[in-house]
Amino acid sequence: MSRSATATIHLNALRDNLARARKLAGSAKVMAVVKADAYGHGLERCARAFGDADAFGVASIADGLRLRAAGHRNRIVVLSGPDAASDLAEMRRLQLEAVIHHPSQLAMLEAERAGTPLKVWLKLDTGMHRLGFPVRQAPALHARLRAMPAVDPAIVLMTHFVSSEAFDDTTTEQQIARFEQATRDLPGERSLSNSAGLLGWPAARGDWVRVGGLLYGLSVADGRTGADFGFAPAMTLATHLVAVNRIARGEHIGYGATWECPEDMDVGVAAIGYGDGYPRSARSGTPVLVGDAPAAVIGRVSMDLVTVDLRRAPDASVGDVVTLWGPRLTVEVIAQHANTISYELTCGVTRRVLFAEDGV
Ligand SMILES: *Cc1c(COP(=O)(O)O)cnc(C)c1O
Repeated sequence: MSRSATATIHLNALRDNLARARKLAGSAKVMAVVKADAYGHGLERCARAFGDADAFGVASIADGLRLRAAGHRNRIVVLSGPDAASDLAEMRRLQLEAVIHHPSQLAMLEAERAGTPLKVWLKLDTGMHRLGFPVRQAPALHARLRAMPAVDPAIVLMTHFVSSEAFDDTTTEQQIARFEQATRDLPGERSLSNSAGLLGWPAARGDWVRVGGLLYGLSVADGRTGADFGFAPAMTLATHLVAVNRIARGEHIGYGATWECPEDMDVGVAAIGYGDGYPRSARSGTPVLVGDAPAAVIGRVSMDLVTVDLRRAPDASVGDVVTLWGPRLTVEVIAQHANTISYELTCGVTRRVLFAEDGV
């Protein structure tokens, strides 16, 4: 038996999730966002499952290269665009599209002469204040880009939401209004929504939705899981029990002695830890499954091991499968116990973990 923790990726879930996102998107096209190694699920594997996406969204040219090397001919959008003038030639060679968000990138493009025109997504800042041009500059920038020989004049206008996962917050409405006002007289396609925008803001469908989390079954909506919206978790993280020990009442478990046994009890030790990407911030009480039985993390998560309260899993023994998250125990719940979001957990699974696939 292998002791390594295993992340099993459910290919059918990935495919079904894309189909479901498409349905919600209506007539809008779907960009499958596969940055950060497809939110930790594996770039090439997920791109295969998302083969009929209208485009892929990546964070780097290197990821675009990996997708082209794997044979994908879909449109590919580099979400932060070129960093240096030399990136432009590489983007042309690989037929990657560039999000343009900063004057430094305009200067690079303006210095270009010939070559196949680059497809450009013009990113406008409607309130996020991370990447993007001030909205009021939209008409002038649009005209300037369209005058450049190095740029394809069919420019997509885009923006990014601050808190679209809060469905009753007015910030998103304001952002939509700002975007619409600034781009009212401009031709071209529009793209506003991420996953939460797709779920909660039908007025922001535009021509393209950019969907990441939901394709992996993940949601960042307050207190709701991807499964609550009909999306299927695409990763199961599991390992085995490597020890079961009887520990006396009043004894403490693990580093820092943060958890005290309230009675004589069995404590399981599972072969996974923060070295595998299971969060050290997971508090005592974070649920796990031992076989099919509910159990909970107790004491501190260490690098290679976690300790587990087995009082509700009386038949547990060494070798039993311990599931850290998956369809029966969603990663959103674990994230809540670890003060983070599901995305960070799936992105954080480390190279030590063995990846497997199921489904076709
Ligand atoms: C990551 C990202 C997305 C996808 O966000 P999700 O919440 O995962 O759907 C969309 N647009 C941009 C610009 C992004 O960086």
